[in-house]
Amino acid sequence: MTDPRLTPLAASLPATVPFVGPETQERAAGRAFTARIGANENVFGPSPRAIHAMEAASAEVWKYADPENFDLRHAISHHHGVPPENIAIDAGIDTLLGLLVRLTVTAGDKVVTSAGAYPTFNFHVAGFGGELVTVPYADDHEDPAALITKAVEVGPKLIYIANPDNPMGTWHSAEVIQRMIDAVPAGSLLVLDEAYIEFAPEGTAPALDVHDTRVIRLRTFSKAYGMAGARVAYAIGARDLIAAFDRVRNHFGMNRTAQIGAVAAIQDQGWIDHVRSRVGVARDKIAEIAAANGLVCLPSATNFVAIDCGQDGAFARRVLDALVAAGIFVRMPSVAPLNRCIRVSAGTPSDLDAFELELPKALAKARAG
Ligand SMILES: *Cc1c(COP(=O)(O)O)cnc(C)c1O
Repeated sequence: MTDPRLTPLAASLPATVPFVGPETQERAAGRAFTARIGANENVFGPSPRAIHAMEAASAEVWKYADPENFDLRHAISHHHGVPPENIAIDAGIDTLLGLLVRLTVTAGDKVVTSAGAYPTFNFHVAGFGGELVTVPYADDHEDPAALITKAVEVGPKLIYIANPDNPMGTWHSAEVIQRMIDAVPAGSLLVLDEAYIEFAPEGTAPALDVHDTRVIRLRTFSKAYGMAGARVAYAIGARDLIAAFDRVRNHFGMNRTAQIGAVAAIQDQGWIDHVRSRVGVARDKIAEIAAANGLVCLPSATNFVAIDCGQDGAFARRVLDALVAAGIFVRMPSVAPLNRCIRVSAGTPSDLDAFELELPKALAKARAG
């Protein structure tokens, strides 16, 4: 029986978990994974300067964080050359997505995204009573033209796209994304999730234009900056939209240590160059392992690679299950035809050695049924 104290909306929601964590799987298996290469975490970690700053700050964790995120907003402002008034900070893109949906979506409002795109966004839309309208991927890419066509048709509050994309790792050029921004219908806001932008080639991100009210950009310290557990991300957008976050955000929700670490991290771009080069080596290694097993990788502008297992979703699932049973944590897309792939994060050399050892066995098991 449903608790009568829940709102009708809460009572109607499924008990969905957007992602089952690797810790949950480890507890169920009774042992730790050998290689943790399933959640696109950056195994190369944060800047040593960020680690030092967080260590130094840890004894002062008795203090609440600065609710205005003043130092971090100014550091981000300096890095991107946009005014601090155009930057909102919170505990991860996931939190910012929730706040944005709360600010814009009420019961019955429509939201447009791609079938198989980032599920945490969908989770928030459901949680505020919005209605998801999806379009399919085209050739393993999110489809900007189809998203806009659907938006013109249904008049959504929000249109979501990740560039580069998760789970496929594919991307569009800045020109394609700018054309999409220019075509956003009146009354809609484009949510441009750029969680992986630091890994993408030059010319992937359109210029930041803080006067453009049609788009909000989301960036995170979780991926290239290697600080997923710290929970820090930011939105860049028009001043009034950014100011609206103050109406609903948890003003004391930031972790003070993480806030201080993020300032040091964004000031150490040399570390990001180092991470990029290690991720490049890892992506090449994953492609080499796939090729040695007769499989093809999708091109990637992220710190993960989608490997096409060459058959259907059921086959890829068997490959994935065999890898997980062998101590290799990987994930896969949820929707056909994307789910013919498994998604492997850029690991350390030893992570990828373990993957190289287990992949042929997993494929043999999957082929045996
Ligand atoms: C990893 C990821 C996020 C989550 O970012 P956090 O800042 O850790 O909440 C958001 N969007 C996409 C597309 C991601 O892959």
